[in-house]
Amino acid sequence: MIRENLEEVEARIQAACDRAGRKREEVTLISVSKTKPVETLKEAYDLGVRVFGENKVQEIREKYEALPKDIEWHMIGHLQTNKVKYIIDKVRLIHSVDSLKLAETIEKEAAKHGIVMDILLEVNVAEEESKFGLKMDEVIPLMEKISGLSHVRIKGLMTIAPFVENPEDNRAIFADLHKLYVDIKEKNIDNGTVSILSMGMTNDYETAIEEGATMVRIGTGIFGARDYSI
Ligand SMILES: *Cc1c(COP(=O)(O)O)cnc(C)c1O
Repeated sequence: MIRENLEEVEARIQAACDRAGRKREEVTLISVSKTKPVETLKEAYDLGVRVFGENKVQEIREKYEALPKDIEWHMIGHLQTNKVKYIIDKVRLIHSVDSLKLAETIEKEAAKHGIVMDILLEVNVAEEESKFGLKMDEVIPLMEKISGLSHVRIKGLMTIAPFVENPEDNRAIFADLHKLYVDIKEKNIDNGTVSILSMGMTNDYETAIEEGATMVRIGTGIFGARDYSI
């Protein structure tokens, strides 16, 4: 099933790139494997998947130990400062930074390991109460503060759009975040490191790609529905 799902997702990413006049290489697919057992991830790995997204520190730790070391792990979920130390040397990119305090903790832990951690700032574009993330007008001020940290490198922006039946309903949200992303690049606020716009999930990734996403995070579309009861 994973093979067929991956083929379908791949075809739909390609078609969205074609519609938008973009190159396929501009979009990175992150296979969101949260709640899925190691055997399922291994199956995807054997089909060539190397980029996995997880939202829980404990799951990253366990799966990191159990799976091959050439996997790129992406932390896509809310991250508590006291847990940064457990994943700092395991993940390629943290998508969910939304406070100076978290960035400073990442700075401290990255410095201990002598590494520079790539991060995205999470933006709650729709200002949903239930979601983490910065408001649009908080992004540049926070970016300016974080740019002083030498072990944290801001690579771009991430959003989790509202859950909607019709992906068209999220088009304006993706377009708004893309506009902010372009502004940041043009004004060179980030010293030229910003190149990632992480937006689009199973329900709306094609729309996100049409609006400029460079990373899409797809779980259900690859691995099937999640079971939270076990
Ligand atoms: C679970 C999750 C996804 C994937 O969701 P699907 O709808 O299953 O594709 C993407 N991004 C984040 C931050 C998630 O937590």
